[in-house]
Amino acid sequence: MSAAKTTPGRGPHDAGAARQTTAAAALLVAYAAIAALPVVLAWARGLPPRPWLDELSSALAMTSLMVLAVAFALSGRIRTVSSPVGIDAAMRMHQLLARPALLYLLVHPMMYTLPLADRPWDDTHAATLALTPAATLTGLAAWVLLMLLVPAAIFRDRIPYRYETWRLSHALGAAALMALGIHHALDAGRYSGAAPLSWLWGLAAAPCALALANVWLFRPIAMSRRPWRVSRLERIAPRTWTLTLRADGHDGGRFRAGQFAWIKTGSAWRLSDHPFSIASAPARLPEIEFLIKEAGAFTAALPDTVAPGARVFLDAPYGNFTLEGRDGEGLMLIAGGAGLAPVMSLLRELAACGERRPVVLVVGNRIAEQIVFADELREMAGRLDLIVHQVLGEPPPGWPGLAGQLDPDTLRPLLPAPAPERWLYFVCGPTPMIDAVEDALDRAGVPLEQIVAERFRYDSGRPGRRERRMMALFGTAAAANLLVALAFALRS
Ligand SMILES: Cc1cc2nc3c(=O)[nH]c(=O)nc-3n(C[C@H](O)[C@H](O)[C@H](O)COP(=O)(O)OP(=O)(O)OC[C@H]3O[C@@H](n4cnc5c(N)ncnc54)[C@H](O)[C@@H]3O)c2cc1C
Repeated sequence: MSAAKTTPGRGPHDAGAARQTTAAAALLVAYAAIAALPVVLAWARGLPPRPWLDELSSALAMTSLMVLAVAFALSGRIRTVSSPVGIDAAMRMHQLLARPALLYLLVHPMMYTLPLADRPWDDTHAATLALTPAATLTGLAAWVLLMLLVPAAIFRDRIPYRYETWRLSHALGAAALMALGIHHALDAGRYSGAAPLSWLWGLAAAPCALALANVWLFRPIAMSRRPWRVSRLERIAPRTWTLTLRADGHDGGRFRAGQFAWIKTGSAWRLSDHPFSIASAPARLPEIEFLIKEAGAFTAALPDTVAPGARVFLDAPYGNFTLEGRDGEGLMLIAGGAGLAPVMSLLRELAACGERRPVVLVVGNRIAEQIVFADELREMAGRLDLIVHQVLGEPPPGWPGLAGQLDPDTLRPLLPAPAPERWLYFVCGPTPMIDAVEDALDRAGVPLEQIVAERFRYDSGRPGRRERRMMALFGTAAAANLLVALAFALRS
């Protein structure tokens, strides 16, 4: 594996920006087209129009069901779905898509004006609604489930149950929601009950079933066939561990520096797993190292659950926090806390490949005792053109490094000059830190395309710069879909 070099005669950010803009535009068009497909197919059936509110209600429900299928597929750890944009962006899209779907389905049952009546002469259901008792039941159950699932996900942090409990209930609830919704559409839908829309709903169920089978069947089978054994668990700072694993009976597979793995302890068939960035470089295989900071039940229990020799199961590799295909005159790596894990993997890879471009590493911690890998970084500075800045939020007296947070004020004097926009930036750490760093880089004129960020939490609070752009993108697509639904409702 070799690190990317600058392309002569062309600004690295130009190529990156063009690639990202094309990917975003393609994504937007594909999403809007998929979401509009059921309404377009319904329109093509040529049935006589009903009152516009009834037609709009059906169109919104069909659009929402399709959007929910897309949202489901995005969360299913299917690499071909999440790889082009990165798994954290895919998860954010999953969350953003659920919001308009919730809104549309909330109003769906309240918008119908036609009576529920059995009139044999109304065979196209232009004057009555075709609602069987079974369809009423599945529709109601799907509606209630959605009203519970989406708010429970948005306000998960404020509800006192474990992340794993929420994740399992969310997955099972979403699967039930799709099954109930599709039954309701097929049984009660004026348009969905017949081909080609009935086929489309069959097709839409496939990625949902695949997503579930992938996470709970195919991945565990693959994980159980390629187990790992704990070589070492070492406490290197307060509440911070390095976990070293060795491939047990296989070569360890392949990964790119900066990627992450889902870890299961005990059994590959456990329902819950946890994502951790690989901190070692690929060259160290068949050994692999993680840097883990205690956060809650799973990480705090590590000393009890992963004694040397214990079996551990990895689903890997995932993630786009990698050097491949990216260009920059230099590299600035910015890490907060455990965000140093994938950054160490990149640095170790750069050192192994004899990287010659300048590299600046900025690491943020609260106190000096949390600084890790200091000796190795000093040694690396001799092999790479590397400058290391340690930043402490609460520095001890006489601290020779920088003091403060990884915010615009701290970062401004550390940015490369004279052309920071020609460098490549890797940022990993808590979400507020990533947002602050992206803001600081934005002010320095660095385009978003030159920044690669890895979020350790999929549930961010205040939307950052990247997220605002994604929201604008999906807002545009949602508006386009609303227009299609309105045009369908108002046709006559
Ligand atoms: C791509 C990625 C890479 C990561 N790399 C590292 C790393 O190298 N080192 C490190 O210390 N931490 C890393 N994390 C964070 C780590 O996954 C969580 O700290 C850990 O799962 C917390 O579990 P817990 O039971 O100890 O704490 P909890 O109190 O249960 O969780 C704390 C928070 O972590 C998140 N979380 C918990 N469980 C999961 C899960 N199963 N899947 C996704 N998110 C979860 C949730 O946002 C939760 O609110 C990474 C996270 C992601 C998404």
